[in-house]
Amino acid sequence: MEEQEPKNAPRRRFSRFQLVVRPDEESERIAERIREALLRSGFELAEAPELVIAVGGDGTMLEAFHRYYPKVPEAAFVGLHTGTLGFYADWKRYEADWMIETILKTEAPRIVEYPLVAAIFEYKDGRRHRHLALNETIVRSKTLSTFVVDVWINGDRFETFRGDGLILSTPSGSTAYSHSVGGSILHPSIAALQVSELAAINNVEYRTLGRSFILPRHHVLDIYPMHPDGEMLVGVDGNVFYAQGVVRIQAHVAEEKVRFARYRDFPFWQRVRMKFLGD
Ligand code: NAP
Ligand code: MN
Repeated sequence: MEEQEPKNAPRRRFSRFQLVVRPDEESERIAERIREALLRSGFELAEAPELVIAVGGDGTMLEAFHRYYPKVPEAAFVGLHTGTLGFYADWKRYEADWMIETILKTEAPRIVEYPLVAAIFEYKDGRRHRHLALNETIVRSKTLSTFVVDVWINGDRFETFRGDGLILSTPSGSTAYSHSVGGSILHPSIAALQVSELAAINNVEYRTLGRSFILPRHHVLDIYPMHPDGEMLVGVDGNVFYAQGVVRIQAHVAEEKVRFARYRDFPFWQRVRMKFLGD
């Protein structure tokens, strides 16, 4: 079975849409064609879209997610990739016309939901900021000095991590940064949070698990920085910020999910094969 299909998925034709486009000539040209065709057929551009079309790369889908998910969490996303292969894109650069035609003639596309990871940053002064990631949240040292944190799982101490940082990845993020550091690939129908190490120090003095590990829904990871006054570098799906005074980062599989409009099948394992094994 491909990804999970929600029981209460809306079963009607979309009419309000938005485009998020990578700023390059080809993506802009294709996006313009899509925009004109949809507008001509009665679709309208709307601030609260039902359908968000990302034209570009996986990075463009991440951008689309962060731009529209907070405003319209029920919006459905669909991607057209203008590079080689996109994990978040069902359509390729030369399939734009086919994609337009399919969007226009499909009464109600299949909706699949992907899990997200929530990370709540708690600061010394009591502030709390919650970040949702579609790929991953990365916490790491800002400088070349060691990132030292205590890691707890479900209220029990697990390990003291010393190294560059940790990646808190979603299942769909398992083919991104997490994959580059040796994490496992997870099918996005598995609601899980994968934790991976960035250059952990392991010797007679210091010890970490040394492997990625995967938490199911409802399990909670707590990260307590040893030096909360220091600055850390945080990356949420490629958006970077510095955080100072962080006393705890609590991460778990989010209650929310993101929706994708599947106008046609493109099984996850086929994408994996094409991307990592060649066609
Ligand atoms: P980017 O530098 O263009 O992204 C790096 C590469 O990751 C690109 O080839 C991108 O594809 C690809 N990618 C993004 N999400 C993916 C996914 N879910 N599965 C497979 N490949 C994926 O920066 P970006 O486009 O803004 O993307 C941000 C993401 O880059 C981060 O969330 C992180 O996962 C990833 N990243 C990876 C590394 C690493 O592997 N060492 C380092 C930093 C960041 P497109 O070209 O289609 O965008
Ligand atoms: Mn990119």
